[in-house]
Amino acid sequence: MRAVFFEAPGRLSVRDIAEPMPARGEIVIDVTAALTCGTDLKAFLRGHRLFRPPMPFGHEMAGRVAVVGEGVTKFRVGDRVTAANSAPCAACFFCKRGQTNLCEQLDRHLNWGAFAERAIVPAPIVERNTHAIPDALDDASAAAIEPLGCVVAGIDGAAIEPGDTVVVLGATGAIGLMFVQVLRSSGAAVIVAVGRSRDRLAMAKTLGADVTASSIDEAEESVRRVTNGRGADAVIEATGQVDVWEQAPRLARRGGTIVMFGGCPGGTRAALDTGRIHYDALTIRGVFHHTPSAIERSLALMQSGRVRIGPILGAEGRLDDVPGLLNRMARREIVKAVVRP
Ligand SMILES: [Zn+2]
Ligand SMILES: [Zn+2]
Repeated sequence: MRAVFFEAPGRLSVRDIAEPMPARGEIVIDVTAALTCGTDLKAFLRGHRLFRPPMPFGHEMAGRVAVVGEGVTKFRVGDRVTAANSAPCAACFFCKRGQTNLCEQLDRHLNWGAFAERAIVPAPIVERNTHAIPDALDDASAAAIEPLGCVVAGIDGAAIEPGDTVVVLGATGAIGLMFVQVLRSSGAAVIVAVGRSRDRLAMAKTLGADVTASSIDEAEESVRRVTNGRGADAVIEATGQVDVWEQAPRLARRGGTIVMFGGCPGGTRAALDTGRIHYDALTIRGVFHHTPSAIERSLALMQSGRVRIGPILGAEGRLDDVPGLLNRMARREIVKAVVRP
C-alpha cells in the first residue's frame, strides 16, 4: 500500500510499504479522509521534537475498519471510525489523578501514518480514543476530533460562564476558528476574534465571532467598549508567539483568566506584568493536549452542527499532493486541507 513518509524537514515521499496487520487489541482502517495540521506543517518546514525521520506522516484521520485484531469487541469490519492521535495509559501517576492529558506514556502511544491507504490504530487508542462516526457526520469533519479535542480541553481551562466576553488571539488559524465555534456553543456572550488576515476574520465572523480586530491594540479598544472598560472575562492565546503571550493579560479584566494554548518555540521566556497578575488576581492557565472526555465532546459538537469543520477545509488532494497542500498552508492560502488516499 502507499503511505506518505516524512524523510527530513522539507522532504516527504510516498513509499510502497507492506499492508499493516493488527496485533492484539489493534484495528486497521482504510483511510477515507486525513487532515493536514499545523503540527504537520511545522515538522515539514523545520522539523519537530516528536518527529524522528524517516517515519509515517499525518495524524488526523477517519475511515472504515478494514481488519480487526484479536480481542477487539468495540468495532467491526466496515464501521466508520475516527481515531485521535494518542490515548492515555490509564495507569500512570497523572492518569490516576484524572490529568490524562499529561499521561507519562503519551509520547509512546502517539500514532502517525494518517496519510496512507491504510493506518493501524494502537490498542490504547482503540480502547479509549476511537469512536464510531455518527451517520450525520462526514468523514473529513470527523477526522478533526484531535485538534477539536484540544480546543474543548482548552476551553475547560477557561471556565467560561454564560454571558462572558472572551477574546481569541490567533482566531484566524484552524485552531482559532474552532475556538470561536466552541465558545459560541459554551454560553459566551461576546466573542472577540483577533488575527491578521482580513479574509479569515470574515470567516471567524461567519462562524460565530461578534467583533473582529486585526491587532492587540484594536482588540483592547473593542473589549473596553463592550465591557464598560473592565476587560474580557477570559482571553485565549492561540498564536504560540512570545510577544502575544506577554500582551494577552492586557485584555483581561480584574479576576479574569488567560489561557495559554499556543505553544511557543522551545526555550523561550515571556515577561509578564507582575503587578497586574497580583493586584488584579489574574489566573494564567497553561493548557495542553486533550482528554478522552474532550475527544468525546468534540465529536458531539460536530454531530450537532455547532462546530463545522467544512468551512475550514480549503483544499482537497491525494497522497502525492501532501507537500503541495502543506506549501499552500505555509503561504496562508488555505487553513487546513483534506487528503483522500
Ligand atoms: Zn493535529
Ligand atoms: Zn498515563
